[in-house]
Amino acid sequence: MTTTVLRSVLPTFGVVLTLALPAAATAAPSGGAQAFSEPEVERIDCVTPTSESCAQGVLPAGARVRLVGSDLRDVRRVVFRGADGRRDDAAARVSHVGAGHADVQVPGTAQTGPVDLVVRGGEPVRAMPRVTVRPLVPAGQVDGHVFPIRGKHDVGQTETNNFGGGRNHQGQDMFAACGTPLVAAQGGRVRMAKANHARAGNYLVITGESSGLDYVYMHMQAPPTVETGDRVASGQQLGEVGDTGNANGCHVHFEIWSAPGWYTGGKPIDPLPLVRAWDPDH
Ligand SMILES: [Zn+2]
Repeated sequence: MTTTVLRSVLPTFGVVLTLALPAAATAAPSGGAQAFSEPEVERIDCVTPTSESCAQGVLPAGARVRLVGSDLRDVRRVVFRGADGRRDDAAARVSHVGAGHADVQVPGTAQTGPVDLVVRGGEPVRAMPRVTVRPLVPAGQVDGHVFPIRGKHDVGQTETNNFGGGRNHQGQDMFAACGTPLVAAQGGRVRMAKANHARAGNYLVITGESSGLDYVYMHMQAPPTVETGDRVASGQQLGEVGDTGNANGCHVHFEIWSAPGWYTGGKPIDPLPLVRAWDPDH
């Protein structure tokens, strides 16, 4: 991205937040021949416009934002800490890193709280004491779900299996032997039940009853036995892990979309922090 582009983008969507620097981040290290400067964030700008307003000091989850500051070159991830404890932490990889800025998409599961920077080879650095986030997933919705694979599994945590990985991946690929039961992460109504799609194979989309989120299960071994409009309960078996469609090995490609849903105005959310929280083996 060039400076020209930035100039044309930023004034349009404006500055979101202007927060004071935390004292810790301004302390200069002393001694040593190699001066190491901790990254500092002066403010967070909205880059991508969203339907929600960015102008009221609130970052809408899913929006692309730009951290503006100094010594940001080695920042690899931004962690939205949310409440105390690690359960609702939501991390996102940065892109377009330069000394003075780092871009990140606010994770769908991000909650209001401190924001930390993870620097290559270093401890996390507090960037902002408190950032207000409008989450796509309401606080508390991290719980109240069932892990979608009932049986031995591997939450494939590699670049290509993760959300946003190669091919603009919109879900999380989770591996299990073909035939392992797939269950509803949250009960609700079947929005789409399709057999033998060229890429998705046999797949299902279910709108969660209490969350309003859409949950998508692809590459199932057999055509769905439920139909569009059917109700399913949380934990109800939906089928089995398979490798139908364009699948490399037995796995479920699992997506989560915010309301109003899958390809109907919602946004795909990174499922990884959620499935990790639901995973009984984690
Ligand atoms: Zn996938």
